[in-house]
Amino acid sequence: MSARENTIERVQYNRTKIVATLGPASSSPEMLEEMAKAGCDVFRINFSHADYAAIENQIKHIREINRKLNIHTSILGDLQGPKLRVGEMENNGVELVDGAEFIFTTNKMIGTAQMAFMTYQQFPKDVKAGEFVLIDDGKLVLQVTSTNGKDEVKTKVMHGGILSSKKGVNLPNTKVSLPCLTEKDIKDLDFILKHEFDWIGLSFVRSGADIVELKQLIKKINPLSKSKVIAKIEKPEAILDIENIIRETDALMVARGDLGVEVPMQRVPVLQKMLVKKCLEASIPVIIATQMMESMITNISPTRAEVNDVANSVMDGADAVMLSGETSVGKHPAKVIEAMSKIITQVEEEHDIYYLDRKPFFSMTDRFLSDNICYAATQLSKQVDATAIITMTHSGYTAFRVASYRPKANVFVFTDNYSILSQLSLVWGVRGFYYDKNISTDHTISDIKFILKRDGYIVENDYIINIASIPLSEKGTTNMIKLTAVE
Ligand code: PGA
Ligand code: MN
Repeated sequence: MSARENTIERVQYNRTKIVATLGPASSSPEMLEEMAKAGCDVFRINFSHADYAAIENQIKHIREINRKLNIHTSILGDLQGPKLRVGEMENNGVELVDGAEFIFTTNKMIGTAQMAFMTYQQFPKDVKAGEFVLIDDGKLVLQVTSTNGKDEVKTKVMHGGILSSKKGVNLPNTKVSLPCLTEKDIKDLDFILKHEFDWIGLSFVRSGADIVELKQLIKKINPLSKSKVIAKIEKPEAILDIENIIRETDALMVARGDLGVEVPMQRVPVLQKMLVKKCLEASIPVIIATQMMESMITNISPTRAEVNDVANSVMDGADAVMLSGETSVGKHPAKVIEAMSKIITQVEEEHDIYYLDRKPFFSMTDRFLSDNICYAATQLSKQVDATAIITMTHSGYTAFRVASYRPKANVFVFTDNYSILSQLSLVWGVRGFYYDKNISTDHTISDIKFILKRDGYIVENDYIINIASIPLSEKGTTNMIKLTAVE
């Protein structure tokens, strides 16, 4: 009998992670717990709709659930960035008719069918005649006819419809001169850091410099912050500067909602594949976002096309797939996570998404030894069909590295660093355990093996691989690899 044909039931879980956005449909402690049990790995809090008191409650509940269920779900705070919007509209919405003239003003007013307030003060200076203005995810299309360069932009309605209050505006052709972090973002960032979120997303990133700016600001507000940064790719400029963005950021989101408005939407599938590939090569996590299970906002099951979209994102190699409206305002926040989780399980069982055939990444720095050990551990795991690669880490570095080679073996991370535990919930294939005994490497390895066997993660005759540093006190440099058969 081979190690894989064991009759004892092994604890199983998905490699590809699920991010769920919180909102009115998912704020009660009961619902949050149901969502966590259904397989949510990361809770996303969208600061476009920030109500600090409500968010404080959500965070409190999530952390209680983590303690109660002994899990490490992660919290992601998503900064709005330079998102453009119209102001309040009369009657909560007006109809724009094809061919009509429509004026944007930078002076505050209640909008009418002829004119509306635009939050972006430099709009009349930055825009040129002929450029397009898209509203409400591109549902309404207007074209600029003239600007007075001061406070008014005249447009013609190309494709009309209902314009309601505070709808988002995209300017795919305009070079938007707003800073990457608005005053609101800086306030929100302060709140996020005070509450020690694991991940911070930045919307409408345009260049690597935007990420550098965010990281500098984080350092300035709290030099000890452990929060990591996610660059949301939803602007054409970001695609052009993608190498720099990937170099600076800790993770990436393919933000298909705005991206599909800012670039022709038929480009999004190819861009998704390109972005996932680049992230895997750089060994940073990548999230696929928006409209994955959209019909489940109301329906009890997804469309076949949605099932295919989630499945294909898993096959592309994404670390995580994300839910937005489905869990924030949808009717079935826990059911949609369950349905998504089933799709992931099926693909991971039946489709070969493992051991990516790509060149190893070796940094010519102090990480050179660790990088080589991580790569070798993955190769060895393939050769012996190992059940687990176990890493002891304080920084989490080896976990990110090993996971990016997509081993079929589970990646079990043992760490005494709580922030790493929840951060790693976003990372493909990784499962974290808190462990703070520090006697010797030999002792730790056998103790961990005992824990994993006791809890059903490994069973007799399994092969397991440990990577660690010897001596244990030399935290940082992983220099040892060990192959064991479980007795
Ligand atoms: P959003 O980002 O939901 O914050 O807009 C995701 C996207 O644009 O796809
Ligand atoms: Mn967006």
